[in-house]
Amino acid sequence: MNQPKSGRDDRPLGESSAIISAGKDHGINQKTISNAALDVIRDLQQAGFTAYLVGGAVRDLLLESVPKDYDIATDATPEQVRSVFRRCRLIGRRFRLAHVFMHGQLIEVATFRGDAADSDEQQIGKQGRILSDNSYGNEQEDALRRDFTANALFYDPLNDNIIDYAGGLDDIKHRRLRLIGDVSTRYREDPVRMLRAVRFAVSKKLHLHPKTAAEIPVLAHLLQNIPSARLFDEFCKLMLTGHAHDTTCMLVKIGLWEQLFPDVQLAVEQDHKLLASQVLIQALRNSDDRVAKGLPVTSGFLLAAMLWQPLQKRLMQLQHQQDNLLLNMQQASDEALFLKPQPVGMPKRVTAMCREIWLLQHRFLRTRGKRARRLLEEQRFRAAYDFLLLRAIEEPELKPLADWWTYVQTLGAKKLDTALREGYSAKSD
Ligand code: ATP
Ligand code: MG
Repeated sequence: MNQPKSGRDDRPLGESSAIISAGKDHGINQKTISNAALDVIRDLQQAGFTAYLVGGAVRDLLLESVPKDYDIATDATPEQVRSVFRRCRLIGRRFRLAHVFMHGQLIEVATFRGDAADSDEQQIGKQGRILSDNSYGNEQEDALRRDFTANALFYDPLNDNIIDYAGGLDDIKHRRLRLIGDVSTRYREDPVRMLRAVRFAVSKKLHLHPKTAAEIPVLAHLLQNIPSARLFDEFCKLMLTGHAHDTTCMLVKIGLWEQLFPDVQLAVEQDHKLLASQVLIQALRNSDDRVAKGLPVTSGFLLAAMLWQPLQKRLMQLQHQQDNLLLNMQQASDEALFLKPQPVGMPKRVTAMCREIWLLQHRFLRTRGKRARRLLEEQRFRAAYDFLLLRAIEEPELKPLADWWTYVQTLGAKKLDTALREGYSAKSD
């Protein structure tokens, strides 16, 4: 096991550097914690191991928001964890984790990890990125290798204590998000931490510590080295969890957006107003509203809105060359989605949905007969129709047509027959 190194944080390190905060001070209400997580910790402790709640759950409990899931850190090895629980599976090849099933819930239990910089276990890439990182450590090392101080707190529910090696309690008290250790080194080790900084700042209403913020524009380009599939995962966490509008603003302001979507040029005004097409602004706002109401949101729809403006530009160029809207739309869509590799690697199901939404748009112009009926029956009709509504905000001349499509969806079979016989223009005559 490696010894903890000093110099990773502003303060000298050592076992004594932990601040212990007792129940009367930290204010976590145990009743709000999942019983499954509490029971896993209790069983591990009763078997003689150290075990704590850790990471996002502790942060969220202190911020009085509801944790999404409960992670546990322990000094037991994965095999030892398995020996404690009847229903437990080990996952991961190089760094093993235990999945414990308790009261129908899955609880992830990880063995404390160390700073493996001195061992053979850690591989560093040319620009300082950690490529693999697989050694166990003690609890202090485990805390200090985490990203933000607010994410590095341990909570021991049996003693009702918080153990703070990185200064997270004070940061949370001041609603501050601060990277642990030397900021440049930590972003270089894993540039995705820059995106995580924006995500937590926006979703948890924290402000970035000045140093944590200042290095982001300088190092934003390092996102180019991140595998596109990982960026897609982060994109979903950033954009599909109820804060898409404000997250986009912050990504633009801090210089990360252009690394993720170089083809979608956005700006933010002094008063924090996002300068973008109405289609995009409304798509971001709608998806946040939907998340707030517990409705599903899809990345394909958002992607369609994000790329709509550049797509229109390209479409106009192509229309100058040949007047065939459908063919040109197909070509512009393929260019936007498939021709050059993009930083954020959208899976096929996402690009396919996006393309369908775009290609269905011109079919809304045909409001009569079989064609109109077939459109209503399309699998993607609802998404394409929602997209038409967004377009009608930007292009008010589309509003009567969009209203007509809204109207026909309310009709029973007989009236629908009549409406489709007459079509939209007949009705408006
Ligand atoms: P969320 O509520 O989104 O799940 P979280 O903080 O739990 O937030 P996770 O991605 O689930 O985020 O990670 C769990 C914990 O693992 C984090 O709180 C942090 O301590 C640590 N962690 C995750 N990603 C990194 C990273 N890139 N670098 C260092 N530590 C990380
Ligand atoms: Mg989590």
